[in-house]
Amino acid sequence: MHSFVATTQSGATSLSATTPATAPATPLATTVVGTSATASGAIRHDWSRQEVEKLFALPFNDLLFQAHTVHRQYFDPNQVQVSTLLSIKTGACPEDCAYCPQSTRYDTGLEAEALMEIEQVLEQARAAAASGATRFCMGAAWRSPKQRDMPKVVAMVKGVRALGLESCMTLGMLTREQAQELSEAGLDYYNHNLDTSPEFYGEIITTRTYQDRLETLDHVRDAGMKVCSGGIVGMGETQTDRAGLLQQLANLPQHPESVPINMLVRVQGTPLAAEADLDPFEFIRTIAAARIMMPASHVRLSAGREEMNEQMHALAYFAGANSIFYGEKLLTTPNPQANTDMALFARLGIQPERRHVEMDLEWNGEQASQAPNPLFYDAAAR
Ligand code: SF4
Repeated sequence: MHSFVATTQSGATSLSATTPATAPATPLATTVVGTSATASGAIRHDWSRQEVEKLFALPFNDLLFQAHTVHRQYFDPNQVQVSTLLSIKTGACPEDCAYCPQSTRYDTGLEAEALMEIEQVLEQARAAAASGATRFCMGAAWRSPKQRDMPKVVAMVKGVRALGLESCMTLGMLTREQAQELSEAGLDYYNHNLDTSPEFYGEIITTRTYQDRLETLDHVRDAGMKVCSGGIVGMGETQTDRAGLLQQLANLPQHPESVPINMLVRVQGTPLAAEADLDPFEFIRTIAAARIMMPASHVRLSAGREEMNEQMHALAYFAGANSIFYGEKLLTTPNPQANTDMALFARLGIQPERRHVEMDLEWNGEQASQAPNPLFYDAAAR
C-alpha cells in the first residue's frame, strides 16, 4: 500500500517546459512514490522477521525516503549527538567475541591496561566537557565487573556526573545488584550489545549466551537506567541476520534509547580478520531499517567509521543516524574545528546536539509533535 504521493505542480510545469516532445506524457513529478504502511513512525514491539526482511528488500530510495520521513517525526534532522568514549580497562578479556582485539584468546598485539585510576578518568572527562561533549562513555573489557572493582567504578560515575556530563558505561554482564548499584551512583546509560541475530550469534561468541545478554538488559532497565544496545554488521552474517538483530532490539519491552550500529573493524589476529567487505549500501539499509523500527531512539554510528567516507556518513545521517562516537581522539584534538567530523558537520549544515533530552518515555508521533522541546518536532506537520 502506498501512502505518499508527490504532487509538486511547479516541478511538473518546469519539467514540461524543458522536456523534448518525445518525453513521456506523464510528468515524473506526479508519479506515486513507493512506500509501505510499515513506516508509519509508530512505536511498535511486534515486528515479524518477514516484515523486517521486506524493509531491507525495498528499493534503496524507497527505504531511505521512509526512514528519513520517520526521522523527521521525532528528531531535528540537522542535529547529531556526539559522545566520547574512554577505555578505562583495556584488553585481557576472557570472552571469545570473534571480532574483538581485546579478547585474551587472540594475538592482536594489543597492550593490556589495568583499570584506570579515578582521577585519570576524571581528567579525561574534564577534557571531554571542555571540548563540548555532553556524554562521557567509559568501557572496560570485562566478562562482568568484579565486586572489588565496583567502588572505583561507582566513584567514576559520580565524578563524571559532578562535571555536568551524562554518564554511560559498558562493563560486560551485570547482576541485578550491580545494575542497582550503578543506577544509585547516577549512571545514566548502560551499553550492552546484542551483537547479531540469535541464529548467527553462536558463530561469533561461545562464552556467553544470547539469553545472558537479554538478562543484563533486563537488569539495566529494571534498575531504572537507560539502555544502549545494538550490534555489528559485516561479520559474515546474512541480511536475514541483520533483520533478526533489529527485530530483537525493536521487540524488547522498551526500545533502547541508543542503538549503535557498528561496522566490523577487521583486526589482524582475530578470527574475523579476513572477513569479506560488506556492501556499504547494506550498512545504510541497516541504519534506515533501525530508524524505521525504533523511531524515537538515537541510532549511532560508532566502530568502523574510519573506513566510511564523507559521502557514506552523509547518507547514514539522511537514513536516520543521529549520534556518533568521537572516540578518544576528541580528548586529544585541541581545536574541534580541526576534527574531520566537525568539518563535515559544517559542510552538511549539521549541529552537534547540545542538549540532553529525556527519553524515558517512548514517544509516538502525536506526543512528539506536541512536545515543547524543539529537538523533537514533526517537520512534516509544519
Ligand atoms: S566481552 Fe567485550 S571486551 Fe571482552 S572480548 Fe567480548 S567484546 Fe571484547
